[in-house]
This record gives sequence, C-alpha cells and structure tokens, in this order.
Amino acid sequence: MTTHPTPADRDATDALRTFRDRFVLPEGVIYLDGNSLGALPVATAGRVADLVNAEWGLSLIRSWNAHDWIGAPQRVGSKIARLIGAQSGEVVVADSTSVNLYKLIMSALQAQPGRRTVLSEPGNFPTDLYMVESAIASSGGQHRLSLVPRDQLLSAIDDDTALVLLTHVHYKTADVWDMGAVTAAAQERGAMVLWDLSHSAGAIPVDLNGCHADLAVGCGYKFLNGGPGAPAFLYVASRHQSRLQTPLGGWMGHKRPFDFVDGYEAAPGIARFLCGTPPMLSLIGLEVGVDLMLEADREAVATKSRALAALFMAEVSARCTRFGVELVGPPPGAPRGSHVSFRHPEGYAIMQALIARGVIGDFRAPDIMRFGLTPLYLRYADVYEAARVMEDVLAAGAYQAEEFRVRKAVT
Ligand SMILES: *Cc1c(COP(=O)(O)O)cnc(C)c1O
Repeated sequence: MTTHPTPADRDATDALRTFRDRFVLPEGVIYLDGNSLGALPVATAGRVADLVNAEWGLSLIRSWNAHDWIGAPQRVGSKIARLIGAQSGEVVVADSTSVNLYKLIMSALQAQPGRRTVLSEPGNFPTDLYMVESAIASSGGQHRLSLVPRDQLLSAIDDDTALVLLTHVHYKTADVWDMGAVTAAAQERGAMVLWDLSHSAGAIPVDLNGCHADLAVGCGYKFLNGGPGAPAFLYVASRHQSRLQTPLGGWMGHKRPFDFVDGYEAAPGIARFLCGTPPMLSLIGLEVGVDLMLEADREAVATKSRALAALFMAEVSARCTRFGVELVGPPPGAPRGSHVSFRHPEGYAIMQALIARGVIGDFRAPDIMRFGLTPLYLRYADVYEAARVMEDVLAAGAYQAEEFRVRKAVT
C-alpha cells in the first residue's frame, strides 16, 4: 500500500521552499492574488529606500549616469528577456501594459499596409480590446477589430489580417494559447501576432524566440512582483526593430536625446519604443522582483505551479461542488496558467467572505472567483487550507451576510 504525501510532506521537500522567506507575508493571510498584485519581496523596501536616500537624495541628478538610471529600462528589460525566451536587446521596460499595447498595435498596423483587420477573441482583457479601438481611431478608421471565438480563430486569419492580438494566458479562465502554432499560422498568411504576457511572465514557461514571436507586452506588478503600478515591458523581435515605428516618438526613443534637436529620429533597436523618462522609484522595485524570479529554477516553478493547481482543483471540487461551485477553464491535467477560477452565482459575496477569513483571491464579473497560485511564496498547505476554508464558508452560508454584498470599487 502506498500512502499519499500530505501537503506538509510536500512542503518539506519542495525545491522552492526557501523562497517564501524572501517575501513579506502577513500572519493569518493565505495570499491567492499574486496574479493581480504580486507580494512584496523583502529586499524591495531597502532597495527603494536606498534609491530615494542615497541616489536621489545625495547623488541627485548625477544618478542618471552614476547609478545608471538612464540604462534601467534596457537593463531590467534584458533580465525579463531571460524569463520569456528573448534576447537581451529585444525587451525594454516602459509605460503601462495599456500604453505598450497601443504603441505596438499602431506599429504593426503601419508596417502592414493594405491589411485592415485586427483579430482577437471576445472576452479578451478589456484594455487590450479598448487599445485596439483607440489605435483604429488614431489611424483614421481604416482598420477594424474582428472578435472571433477561440476555436475558430486560426481559420479566420487571412490576407486582410494585419495583426492577431491575444492574451497568452486568459485572465479569467487560465486557458493557454499554443503560442508556436498561432504564430506560425498567422505568419504563414502574412499577419503579425502581438502576445499579452501579463499572466504568463513569471508564471509559466514562455519561449518567444523559440516560437518565432513578433511582438509582446506584459505586466510588471503581477507574477513579477514589481509593486503596485510597476512599469510594464514590451518585446519586439530583433528582426522587426528597424522597420517598426512607434506612434509616440518621445525624446527617450530618439537616436540622440541629448542633442536636443527639433526633429524626431528613431533610435536604433529596442530603445525607439521608449517614450518619456523612466519612473525610477517603481522601476527599481520591478528590478528586485525580476532578480528574485531569476534566482528560481524555471522548471521547478512550472512544475510547482501545475502541482498547486492540481491540488487546489481536486480539493475545491471534492469539497465545494455540492454547493454549486464549478471549475472554469482547463480541466485537471490540461495546460493552464498559474491561476484557477471557479464560477458561482454568489461569487462576489463568497470571495468577500473568504477575504474576511484571510484567504485573499479576487472576483471577476459576472461570477468568477479567481485564485492566483504563485509557486515562489505559496505552500501546498496554504492551498489545501484555502479549499477547506471555502468549504466552511459555503457550508455555514457565511457569505450571505449583508456586509459581503456591497460591491467595492476594485473587485
Ligand atoms: C493586468 C492586465 C493588463 C494591465 O494593464 P495596465 O495598463 O497595467 O492596467 C493588461 N492586459 C492583461 C491581459 C492583463 O491581465
């Protein structure tokens, strides 16, 4: 007879177990929302304080050179490149994910004259679709956005498709696109693909170069633990860099910003996709998060992500199906991102009741309870306990309390 290892047994032999101490995690909280705001690395406060007190305070403007603030977007970009299968010089940190989407959508439309369609899927992350609308409005309305369901998307790519815009790991369901297959199908028909890696970078293996990817963007404050509102990143394959133009030609993307000339001339390479001055206070927090992620073995992160998801899906299904809780997205064993979502008509109130018990996930309208499973700082025992608390909340009807029904601004 074999005995199954308990969650505690698995924590004791977890290859990533030492990483938990590198994060600030409050007592009594099981944090299952690292896919929305990653936890605070222990090193961040000191590094930010040092940047404020020593660099800004004492070195003042000299810091741009002396502490290489000016090189930070490329330096941190090159570190992120190692997490997503890109080369140094193909990734830069800048702006927000929304703004980077706009920049790269416009770049791609300009580079594909005669092609009028941007393809995406219904239910893609809102800002991604809104940014396409903005790009279409900016380009004089000659383009159109076509939303095609996932199972028909590949066959909808044709000679009119300029760009396919997809979120690699779906923010609600954790469904994963086959990046290589979609990229090959699009390129075969002359279209480009822009991948949103917001729920992929730092969460699951990504191999942009291996998939011959064209363009990508991603978020700094989710699985990369960069801090609230940390800057985002963008990737442009080196083969495209000289032929793509940014629609926002700011001085930081100029060939010689400190010549202060009147006319814009794009910098060679990835720097042309910068716009304004880098936000050093938040950029330095992102660097701490990325450095920490780079210390972890990527295969171990992927393996533990799958194992945590399998444990959580099994426990929640066994304990909570009878209360009407239903798994959303890939079934156990299928490829998935590093979050797990369940549907319930009272999802908002249940999530509020869970948060009141210290189990923090989030809610995505209309009925999705979403739980981020971050391998660096979660234990198997946490995930097991979270499922147990969920059963408790449902069995006792605790979520029916009036206080859990009031919708807050951020869900
Ligand atoms: C979180 C997220 C964003 C965030 O965009 P911001 O500009 O940082 O607000 C964009 N796209 C996807 C798919 C996301 O999950």
